[in-house]
Parts: sequence; structure tokens; C-alpha cells
Amino acid sequence: MEYDLILKGGTIVLDWGEVEADVAVRDGKIVSIGSDLGRGKEEIDASGLIVTPGMVDPHVHISEPGRTEWEGYITGTSAAAKGGVTSFVMMPLNQLPCTADRESLDLQLRTGEGRTKVDIALYGALTPNNLDSLEDLSYGGVVGYKAFLSSCGDRTKGDDMMNVDDYSLYRGMKTISCLGKVLALHCENAAITDGLGTEARQEGPDTLASYVASRPIFTEVEAVRRALYLAKQTGVRLHICHCSCPEAVSEVSESRFSGLDVTAETCTHYLYFTTDELDDIGNSVKCSPPIRDGKNLEGMWEKLFKGEIACVGSDHSPCTADLKEGTAFSAWGGIAGLQNSYDVLFDEAVQKRGMSLSQFVRITATNAAEIFGLKGKGRIAIGHDADFALIRPNAPYRVTEECLEYKNKLSPYIGRTVGCQIVRTIVRGRTVFSQESGVSKDFAGRFLLSK
Ligand SMILES: [Zn+2]
Repeated sequence: MEYDLILKGGTIVLDWGEVEADVAVRDGKIVSIGSDLGRGKEEIDASGLIVTPGMVDPHVHISEPGRTEWEGYITGTSAAAKGGVTSFVMMPLNQLPCTADRESLDLQLRTGEGRTKVDIALYGALTPNNLDSLEDLSYGGVVGYKAFLSSCGDRTKGDDMMNVDDYSLYRGMKTISCLGKVLALHCENAAITDGLGTEARQEGPDTLASYVASRPIFTEVEAVRRALYLAKQTGVRLHICHCSCPEAVSEVSESRFSGLDVTAETCTHYLYFTTDELDDIGNSVKCSPPIRDGKNLEGMWEKLFKGEIACVGSDHSPCTADLKEGTAFSAWGGIAGLQNSYDVLFDEAVQKRGMSLSQFVRITATNAAEIFGLKGKGRIAIGHDADFALIRPNAPYRVTEECLEYKNKLSPYIGRTVGCQIVRTIVRGRTVFSQESGVSKDFAGRFLLSK
């Protein structure tokens, strides 16, 4: 019987290791893995290439509607396709209104429907103002919730996202626990980081180094500890977003060993940049929690290799060029990293540090798909969605402004040499990016709603 698609002769990364084999696809699903599978309407030569399920990025900000000039569905998902990201979980903030009730969720879905190149699952917000809407959001299909312990949102805009206070965090945790969904948290102590930031701005110098110093490790660890303690009281399933230091990861691990259902995430940029280079790169590398020093980076790699960090995301958080101008403290904090989080990590983890391919796939796809309940995603297996990234190893290229698909061509990775290339990205059997033809014009992506 003829298949829709056969990938031929690639190195296929499976849960337990890799094999050289063909993969056959029918109706968007993987139906066979082996040799001499027969014929396909489309056949792709994957010899010499590593075939993975692509990245399932747990942390992406698309700011449409409301701040579409920062990033839109079309540009954002094009960058994802080009970067080997086959699906991602979209954050409830930076778009206006933030995704805090059924109405804003429906608006989000209407805005993105038919305009995405890759698949998208959604977070709902947890804020002090939407405790009564959490259940509605769950029925609407969000896969989890996101809350900030650090300050967030523009207070001059009523529909921007606001960080939780301890009461709304506790109440929200109880509700989300009953709904059986996961709560993802940005953990930094708001009062201390805000206070230290004000002091540092007054005293100067206004540099990225002093910005980093105003958000010390203990402010992150304190927030993680508080979250873990409250999770223990409420039974909520917890996911700690973008851990930037091994101390935070250790807190998560200890709680998990004691029986709490909690996972840690980090981002490629915490495994790649160090404080020494920040003021040379400029504000495009400003983020929170901040980039830390080289010793910290090595500690994060150790945690990643030991399996203490479940998944790596991009925390793609772009903005317009003018918002990145000005001083370190006044510039927007967020890194545009969606297009380069996967290839940079493959280079750094697999090629430079010898991580096994199956571990690489676990931390970039399988674990995130499990945490967020994305059925059929995150692994190459019979019956799973035919999502693939084809990677050419040991093939360096230089990241340029021109190659970026973002609405705003700003990225701290510009000028860097990456030691591998994404040759093709396939979502449910459809090529959404190839090096020969670029990003596909059609919109193969859809929303992954949780029921
Ligand atoms: Zn974020």
C-alpha cells in the first residue's frame, strides 16, 4: 500500500537510542518504522541527517493580538518552522488582552486559527483578577496556567497580565489542582528584585552587569521555595519556568524526590551566554531571570545531564527595536530565541558535550509533551504525529539578521556560528520548512486544545 510520505535512510532517534531506518507516514501519523517499507507519494532522502520529533517548546510568547508589532502568529510560527520547532506552548501574556478568561481565550483562538505553521497549545493566565475564570479557561482547552511571582505587565493597561500575590497564588493553586492541570511559574521575588533594581538605577552605572546584580540567585531560589511549599499544601502540579541557576533546580529535585509532582525548565540562553559577554552583546540579551556567570552555566549543564531539568525552551519574548534601545534597566527584558534554541542546543549539548541523541530528544520534546499532555507529540513512535526535524550535524553556519523570520530581526544569536543546520521541518506529515524552498506558504499548524 502506498504511503503519503516516506523519510528514507535517516538516523531516527527513538526513546531508547537511534537506528538507521525509513519512516512511513499516512494521514499525518507515523505508521511504520523499518527498512524496505514500500512506496510513498512523497519520498524524502534523509541520509546523513538526524531525524528527531522536532522541538516541543514549552515557553513561547506570541504577542498577537494587541502587541502584534512585537511578534505575530505568521512571523513567530515561521521562525519556529525554520528553527525545527514542531509545536509550542504559548504564554498567556504580552498579547492584549492577556489570556485570562474565556472571552480572551476565544479571541486568541480566532486570531491564530488558520494562520500558524506549527502546532500550538495554550496557557491560561493566573492573576489576582481571574480566580473565577480558571475553570472556564480549562473547559476552553488550555493545557496549563502561568503565573508570575516577579512583577510583570504594564499597569497603565487594564488587560495586561499582573503578577500574583500570595493569596491569589494559593487560591489559584487549589483550583488548578482540582482541574488536574499544571501551573507554570516565573519564580523571582517581586519585592526584593524591584527594590534592588530601584537602588541600582539610582546608584548607577546603568549596565547589564548591574541589572544582573539586581536579581541575585537568592531572589530566584526564595520564590521557588515558596512555590514548592504552597504546592505541597495544595497538591497542585507545578512546573518551574526558566530556572537560571543550579540552586533553583536543586530545590525542585529535592521536592520531587520527596514526592511532589514538580518539574524544572530552563532555556537555551542560560546554557549558552555568560555575564562576561553581556555588555558587548547589548540589550538583546537582557532577560529575567538574568544570564549568570560561567560557573553557574557549568552547574546548569551538570543538572541537565543528570536529568534534573525536564525540558529546555526558548522563552521567546520579542519586542520592537525601540523597546530594546536605551539603558540596560529601561530596555524590555526578553530574548528572541525561538528560531535558534533548537539548533544551538543540539550543537552545544550533542556535538560539543556528547549528550546522547535520545536524551536530547527527551529534554527538547518528549518531556514537555508529557508535562502538558500533548497527545501524539514529542517522540518518533508508531501512532504518533508525523512531526520531524531533519538536522544536518557538523555543518556550521552563521546566524544573520537576514535569516531570521521574526517580525523584529533582533536576537543575541546574530553573528554566532552554530555547528549544525535544520534542513527540514515537518508537521503532521507536511513540510513547513525546507532549506531548498524556505518556509512553506501554507498554514499546516493547528491549536492543540486540552479536553
Ligand atoms: Zn516567558
